[in-house]
Amino acid sequence: MTIHNKKVKIEYECNLCRKTRVIYVDPTLHSEVDSKGYIEYVDLHNCEDSKLNAIILYVDKSLTVRSQVPVKLGTDASAEQISSFNIPTPQKVDFSTKKISKLKSFKAKNLKTLLINDRLRQTKFILDGSQGVEVESKSELGYIDIKAQVNKQIEQGRAKEWLSKLASILEAIILLDEEMLSYLILYLDPNLEKNPSTDEILELDLILHAKSAYPHSTLKFYSVFRRQWSNIKDSLTIDSFSSYEKVITHCIGNQHKTLLDVYQQKIAKNIAFEDFVTIVNELSQLGFLNIEKIEFITITD
Ligand SMILES: [Zn+2]
Repeated sequence: MTIHNKKVKIEYECNLCRKTRVIYVDPTLHSEVDSKGYIEYVDLHNCEDSKLNAIILYVDKSLTVRSQVPVKLGTDASAEQISSFNIPTPQKVDFSTKKISKLKSFKAKNLKTLLINDRLRQTKFILDGSQGVEVESKSELGYIDIKAQVNKQIEQGRAKEWLSKLASILEAIILLDEEMLSYLILYLDPNLEKNPSTDEILELDLILHAKSAYPHSTLKFYSVFRRQWSNIKDSLTIDSFSSYEKVITHCIGNQHKTLLDVYQQKIAKNIAFEDFVTIVNELSQLGFLNIEKIEFITITD
């Protein structure tokens, strides 16, 4: 298993489900804590009774978890509620602000601006741009809220649905690599014209995991794909044998390249990113690609 080497490790045992949880966080965030202060992190995992739970962790400078507070689904734990648990009050750490950089191929046709208010990573991610119609939405547990200005031609209900799906995916990700937000906006911009169906949700998820997902294929998958092409092509979105073929062949025997590496090193010249994501998603659903995602590790004993 490969873990992003820039992250620092926090390990603790969940008081509810007794699992040992290992999470990785950005050390620059952690260096902001002074010697007496704690920093707040939220660990989301399948907890007691296999229910998704969010645990607020108060972590000291030496990465020891000093206290943990479960957040009940659907409730917003306020500062008063938390202090009533009789635990050390964490030092408030200010949100940092990070700009989402625009790749050359980003056209800002439909997506004008974006503001992701991310309480899990204590960061606001911002895409600047021209005026549009404002839409907003938030994630299921309320840790992420997103505002966007979109082209007035875009149906607002649909844009809101996209933002809500995006927020919930961001909430379930521990290792968010900011570079992928530039790719995310590239994908979102043309796709705001469509409804977010199951496939688009899977694609969003793939994009946000593209630096911790490893696509694998084999010669055998490749030859089956060639033989089956005439039967499957009508069910595929992109009308190009060579695009699908390129993606599969570049993943044969792959071990160390992430999805983003495969795209940047081999494919970017020939295939637009949005199409690449669609191709990967379809190939993986048909079983011609396996995508191994590395997110965080849970050790159960
Ligand atoms: Zn737990």
